Amino acid sequence: MAGKKFKKILSITASILTMTLILSQSTFAFDAESNKNEQAALQKQAEQYERTLKKTRNDISEKQAYAKALQGKIETLSKQIKLSNEKIDALNKSIKEKQNEIDKKLSKIESKMTQLRARLRAIYIAGDTSSLEIILGAKDFSDFIDKAELVESISSYDSNLINELKSEMSTISGQQKSLRAEKKSVEKEKKSLENQKSEINKLSEENSTIIAELQGVESATLDSIGENKESQAALEKELKEYFEQQKKQAEENAKKQNSNNAKPSTNSNKNNASNNNSSSNNNTNNTKPDDNSNNNNTTTTPSSGEYVWPCPGFYYLISTFDENRGSSNHGALDIAGGGIYGAQVIAAREGTVVSSFSGCTHDYGKSSSCGCGGGYGNYVVIEHSDGKTSLYGHLSAVYVNYGDYVSAGQLIGRVGSTGYSTGPHLHFETKYSTIWDHSQRYNPLDEYPGLF
Ligand SMILES: [Zn+2]
Ligand SMILES: [Zn+2]
Repeated sequence: MAGKKFKKILSITASILTMTLILSQSTFAFDAESNKNEQAALQKQAEQYERTLKKTRNDISEKQAYAKALQGKIETLSKQIKLSNEKIDALNKSIKEKQNEIDKKLSKIESKMTQLRARLRAIYIAGDTSSLEIILGAKDFSDFIDKAELVESISSYDSNLINELKSEMSTISGQQKSLRAEKKSVEKEKKSLENQKSEINKLSEENSTIIAELQGVESATLDSIGENKESQAALEKELKEYFEQQKKQAEENAKKQNSNNAKPSTNSNKNNASNNNSSSNNNTNNTKPDDNSNNNNTTTTPSSGEYVWPCPGFYYLISTFDENRGSSNHGALDIAGGGIYGAQVIAAREGTVVSSFSGCTHDYGKSSSCGCGGGYGNYVVIEHSDGKTSLYGHLSAVYVNYGDYVSAGQLIGRVGSTGYSTGPHLHFETKYSTIWDHSQRYNPLDEYPGLF
């Protein structure tokens, strides 16, 4: 029950702070959030383009392989058609030869017929003229032979000659007939090959058209990818310039503050929703860094017990201790808000700096880690008197060194976006010891029972 109530309060507080965030953001000419949203949308679009490109290129190589296969088939068919033509030519030659043989045979038969007629005329000159008339009146050779066979007195020589001629004629005619049949079947085969070839030619042409279309898609997609990259680069440049400008401004403000010898104070920093409404006209941007320390607002003290809030003026928790981070919970607080870049980071409690890093120059929002400081970017770890530690990550500036003794509320650095950070925020972590292990972490809000 108590946990639920706490969550509800936290969520209401977050809503108010979100509203404050929106109000304060609208006073900036440049909107880092919408820039990042645009970049994310472009990135999504770029991924879609890459998928399209990959698919199109796969399709093209598939179609090209198909084109190659079709070309192979066309070549095979062309060879087969050529063979058919050669066969047809050879058959035509054979048929012509047979025709010559037939013609020769016919003229031979013609001369034999003339001889036979003469002999038959002599044989029957004074005899059975009716038989002779029958034979001589024959319409053609085969009729002649049929009728001649009827004549009983025909010699065996003539009979043999007639039979021989008859058989030879029939053989040659048979050969010619089978040659013609063979030619017909080869022509049929050739016709089917030509049909196949024209079918495949058609497929090949269609395939070529598809390849040309796909290549058009490929080049259009490449153009889109190029434009998308340019847009992304422009947005990234804008964002980087914005962060750099914020950083510069924060540094100038810090210098000014140092020259004024102003001691960082934690009591005057918190701006809640009601303070926004009661602010004077020349100070509408309450969450702007370094304006906070000039407020004479002491009505609310964020600190409780030994701990003071590490980022005065900023109480919007963009991520809490229990937030699911895959294999474990977040184990820390991410403190964010409009204009937080360059804001003061102060020691939550007095202690000794036992670890720090300030070498990360990648001070801008990113979607993956640059690797600096093990992902923490520039950070400070302070060990307190009871052995507990507090860690401050993603800093844009670090003002303390290893071994320094710092008091509670002392300025130790500035909010930034170094290391694995998608945008300016303070990663605030508390541990039971100096051991770098997730199991040592406890909820920093436990140190601020009265804050939220
Ligand atoms: Zn880095
Ligand atoms: Zn964090």
